[in-house]
Amino acid sequence: MNLIDKLQEAFKIFPGVGKRTAERFTFFTIKSDIENIENLANLLLDIKEKLHPCKLCGNPTTNEICSICSNKSRDHSIILVVENIEDLYHIESTCHFNGIYHILGGHLSPLENINPENLNIKPLIDRIKSNNVNEIILALNPNTSGEVTSSYLYELLKKYNTKITKPSVGLPYGSNINYLDKYTLIQGITERRELKE
Ligand SMILES: [Zn+2]
Repeated sequence: MNLIDKLQEAFKIFPGVGKRTAERFTFFTIKSDIENIENLANLLLDIKEKLHPCKLCGNPTTNEICSICSNKSRDHSIILVVENIEDLYHIESTCHFNGIYHILGGHLSPLENINPENLNIKPLIDRIKSNNVNEIILALNPNTSGEVTSSYLYELLKKYNTKITKPSVGLPYGSNINYLDKYTLIQGITERRELKE
């Protein structure tokens, strides 16, 4: 395989990049200034080498604790639990949530062999035990695996006497938080309902 073919194949690892886009990226790279490409290559390496999960919430950061967890003006008594980084960024972009987050790193899926020990659950329990947490919002994706994960977390967390809520039923079933429009997302998170037995 020559260099051009190799680069095209490499671009195809990105989601949504098919043969045609990979081709365009490749020819753009060939025509681009070396400074642009150097900058891009360095950034890609930096992202992989310097970012690591926040010790508290799992949000990628260059520090030990991320900017959200270390922000004193946020309400640290409300933890919103999401599956992935994309969900956190999408909710942050609405500017309507002032609590803090916890990233699980996925959802439970016995078929894919994803069990509780594969998710970032223990640090969440540690935070509930050691801080004054008043509310846990389970904002997992409104689909089957999100529901399964929510139920598991509810059973696990209910003994800590913390209010456990979910975004309102306004979130359409089968959807993914990352694809929801901002209005639906804000409504779902603002109008949340408490889970009780
Ligand atoms: Zn954090």
